Amino acid sequence: MDITERARLIRSGDRRALARAITLVESARPDHRDEALALLSALREPRREALRIGLSGTPGVGKSTFIEAFGLMLTGQGLKVAVLAVDPSSARSGGSILGDKTRMERLSRDPDAFIRPSPSQSQLGGVARRTREAVALCEAAGFDVVLIETVGVGQSETVVAQLSDLFLLLLAPAGGDELQGVKRGIMEMADLILVNKADGDLKPAALRTVADYAGALQLLRHRPQDPPGFPKAMPVSALESAGLAKAWEEMQALTAWRKAQGQWDRARADQARHWFEEEVRQGLLAALAREPQKGLMAGLGDRVACGDLAPEAAAAEMLRLLGRT
Ligand code: GDP
Repeated sequence: MDITERARLIRSGDRRALARAITLVESARPDHRDEALALLSALREPRREALRIGLSGTPGVGKSTFIEAFGLMLTGQGLKVAVLAVDPSSARSGGSILGDKTRMERLSRDPDAFIRPSPSQSQLGGVARRTREAVALCEAAGFDVVLIETVGVGQSETVVAQLSDLFLLLLAPAGGDELQGVKRGIMEMADLILVNKADGDLKPAALRTVADYAGALQLLRHRPQDPPGFPKAMPVSALESAGLAKAWEEMQALTAWRKAQGQWDRARADQARHWFEEEVRQGLLAALAREPQKGLMAGLGDRVACGDLAPEAAAAEMLRLLGRT
């Protein structure tokens, strides 16, 4: 099937065509890469934009329960929802996103939802690039909301933040008054902190945790461009679908504000630039791993190792040689 026909099918909402296209962008084969680039460029115009929501939280905090309940609420409002995961399946405690059959079972049966199992490559940079392209495919396929999930291993939040319009941090009620060791950098990325499991016996602890984080967010005051009150901390119960409508209202309010202020377009433009530069960086690294660059590196490396050349001089020489090739 030619590219134009595949692009047409994806745009028409054909799920198998979409799934196949995601498999294509995940492939490492050079001929697949060429096809993927052709398909992505065929899908660029006319532009369709989804609301891309990044969601991070440690294993067990309730991400799949939340995504299922939240996703069903959105499809219930007539929206089309796609769910993607950034982390390689090896980095997840519970296996792949659909490895466990009960994960998001109801949402996966919903005709207005599309759930993509997590990619299996081990290198985060590579996975992020594929996820970004999968997001673009979902946008072209007409999804209104794309949820991008990460378990928060190391730098993956930063990657998800670069893929998202909104970033949610899901937390569990804390036992004491500690802030669960959440890194400041991650808190700074969050637009909404959702303290999950605010139900039953856990509710009082959840409400205390919300208050603690609300205080911490006030102190951070890191984004003067955001509307008053943001970033926010609020309680939810994914299990009881409580607080989800309120959380969605906040997301929509923040989105509307950012659009009106021109921040939305600026953020998307910055992200496009980031991913362009990242692709170039990855391409340069890949080129270094190929001959003749690999041989040049090895040769200069040997000379550095035996003391013949200083590391910085060898690096300068390597870069000079690269400039020529
Ligand atoms: P994930 O690893 O972050 O995807 O977490 P899961 O969604 O698999 O949930 C982990 C556990 O927490 C499961 O036993 C869920 O039933 C439970 N859980 C998830 N959300 C809630 C909630 O809102 N309230 C309560 N009480 N339990 C929850």
